[in-house]
Amino acid sequence: MQREPQSFDRVLSSMCSEPHPLAREAAERFLATNPGDPGTYPTVTALEEEALATLGEIGGLENPSGYIASGGTEANVQAMRIARNRAETRTPNVVMPESAHFSFQKAAGVLGVDLRIVPTDERFRADLEAVRASVDADTALVVGVAGSTEYGRVDPIPALGEIARDAGAMLHVDAAWGGFVLPFSGDEWHFGHAAVDTMAIDPHKMGQAAVPAGGLLARSDDLLDELAVDTPYLESTSQATLTGTRSGAGVASAVAAMNELWPDGYREQYRRSQENAEWLAEELEQRGYDVVDPTLPLVAADISGPTFESLREEGWRISRTARGELRVVCMPHVTREMLASFLEDLDRLERG
Ligand code: PLP
Repeated sequence: MQREPQSFDRVLSSMCSEPHPLAREAAERFLATNPGDPGTYPTVTALEEEALATLGEIGGLENPSGYIASGGTEANVQAMRIARNRAETRTPNVVMPESAHFSFQKAAGVLGVDLRIVPTDERFRADLEAVRASVDADTALVVGVAGSTEYGRVDPIPALGEIARDAGAMLHVDAAWGGFVLPFSGDEWHFGHAAVDTMAIDPHKMGQAAVPAGGLLARSDDLLDELAVDTPYLESTSQATLTGTRSGAGVASAVAAMNELWPDGYREQYRRSQENAEWLAEELEQRGYDVVDPTLPLVAADISGPTFESLREEGWRISRTARGELRVVCMPHVTREMLASFLEDLDRLERG
């Protein structure tokens, strides 16, 4: 039976990481709070406002509406729900690239929306022609990914925004993983933000907050209002979140991490992670593997099935892309020493 890892020292495929010590400490302090009930827990509610403002700065959405969600899945579900509720059709559809996270499939199932999945191009980014061909008068939402789960790719967001606008649809950007590295990567980020309606950006991934701390941002209050329901038994009058009781620990740890690390700490972390990714990619290439170029700190390489399984048996926590490549996510806990030790094991196993 597989055991939970006791530390992160062999975890190479997770999109979460060791929380920053200040984030861990803040999470513990706020364990018994519930931002779902702001009248009773005003301190953590104020912290959530702070978290939102910083997330807006990082994501390039000025004065956003939104909240700290349980993760990217909830943020994606809620973004699709906003779009569906606003759409003036009984048969709404959502258009997204095949590189989008599987949480959108859950969202479409729950919301009764037709999901149109379009191919990516040779660089693993949304194929614009395919997106254009798929939108129609019933399209409620176009999804773009900024830091894809398998290859760390960023879709051409401004162009997707134009397609969405022409179709009368909303644009959602899933930056759940990429949001904390893109401000530093030189990628097109802060995408001329008029176009972006909603965004997922998760402090509990590259943001080094404790789980659960996802982020849902919306361009304006009226978008979030689409989600609001009356809350008769609470001191507050309405609630836009999907869950009722929520983790104050996630909120407080997100604020602690972002106050400490934004922007210099995150910039430094991005630099370290990206250097590690490029180093690993080069080492793998030198050994003759096919490697997908790490444009963000995520490496995918074509390593054979038996070797992959042996690495897992040796305790390496690794996973595969849909095409079967090994993927290594260079999260903050992934050090050069760890990667060197991984390569040593790989070499030994390949020698047989
Ligand atoms: N979006 C992207 C791009 C992701 O990589 C992930 C998870 O890895 C999610 C959404 C889902 O996030 P969560 O697992 O926090 O719900």
